[in-house]
Amino acid sequence: MTEKVKLIIIGSGPAGFTAALYAARANLAPLLFEGFYSGPAGGQLMTTTDVENYPGFPEGISGPELMEKLRKQAEKFGTKVISEDVISCDLKTHPFVVRTSNAEYQAESIIIATGASAKTLDIPGTHEGEFWQKGVTACAVCDGAAPIFRNQPLYVIGGGDSACEESLFLTNYGSKIYLVHRRDELRASKIMANRVKRNHKIEVLWDSVVTRVEGDHIVRSVTVKNLKTGVEEKREAAGLFFAVGHTPNTAFLSGQIELHDNGYIKVHPGTTLTNIKGVFAAGDCADFHYRQAITAAGTGCMAALEAERWLSAREEQ
Ligand code: NAP
Repeated sequence: MTEKVKLIIIGSGPAGFTAALYAARANLAPLLFEGFYSGPAGGQLMTTTDVENYPGFPEGISGPELMEKLRKQAEKFGTKVISEDVISCDLKTHPFVVRTSNAEYQAESIIIATGASAKTLDIPGTHEGEFWQKGVTACAVCDGAAPIFRNQPLYVIGGGDSACEESLFLTNYGSKIYLVHRRDELRASKIMANRVKRNHKIEVLWDSVVTRVEGDHIVRSVTVKNLKTGVEEKREAAGLFFAVGHTPNTAFLSGQIELHDNGYIKVHPGTTLTNIKGVFAAGDCADFHYRQAITAAGTGCMAALEAERWLSAREEQ
């Protein structure tokens, strides 16, 4: 039998759980899908160590601990969390239909808070079945402390704040960190770029790309090509870390809702309203500008308030 609910929240990061907290306190009894195979339940903070800029935690808090607290708080007021991936939605009928691989649900309103995932590049040697997770990763903070990286030369690709942050983090473990950037100027904020430039353990390889990763059972080398000279050099390496931006987790919505060209969900400025009445979007799946845990939580709150108002207005009709 198809379960019918007032509100379904898809996603379990700060946006999803904040939306759930507000919706549960408003007696909407939300169902929250936290995901299963699609990535860590709890979202990107689950792969972060210290969060120092989430208000209310002057000593900092670990990403997983913060998510655990958000989850408990949402559950305390009646949020039901389901550990499944939503594989498709039908937003063209009402009630909306939400499908997992096991069941189908009907919802009067939906908050999409599926976040974004770290991008990788199509470089030979980096794929699943090659050296992916055998020295190649997209998260220095999650994997950097692994023994295979200790006192070894490590490579980070990217030129943004993430690449700088990951390089700085890896100085705790590697013998030398090479930041490989395709241009001659970092995209990162000045403060991060300066920290990188001042750190004697980090060397930036400007105008460069990685063209190949090789090894035996783990990574042993990367080949770096200088785009200006065309010279390629095979260099000893134990790790390669992608830090080249993110992709919004919106593929499952294909054709159902208006997206920007880059795949992020379009919302009416200053709100979480999408082009479909009754469907709201919060957090990184609709934000390619701020992308912070606190902004995600803030838009999660907005989405719940907007969903509640929308549901009440319908009931009054
Ligand atoms: P980003 O700012 O989009 O930077 C992505 C980097 O990857 C760019 O330098 C880009 O090069 C490079 N890149 C993209 N595609 C590439 C390709 N095909 N080959 C080689 N290089 C490629 O992403 P981000 O660093 O993840 O940051 C995202 C947002 O989060 C930003 O708003 C950032 O400020 C914020 N953030 C903040 C902090 C912090 O404040 N502590 C930490 C992390 C992230 P180009 O520069 O040439 O385009």
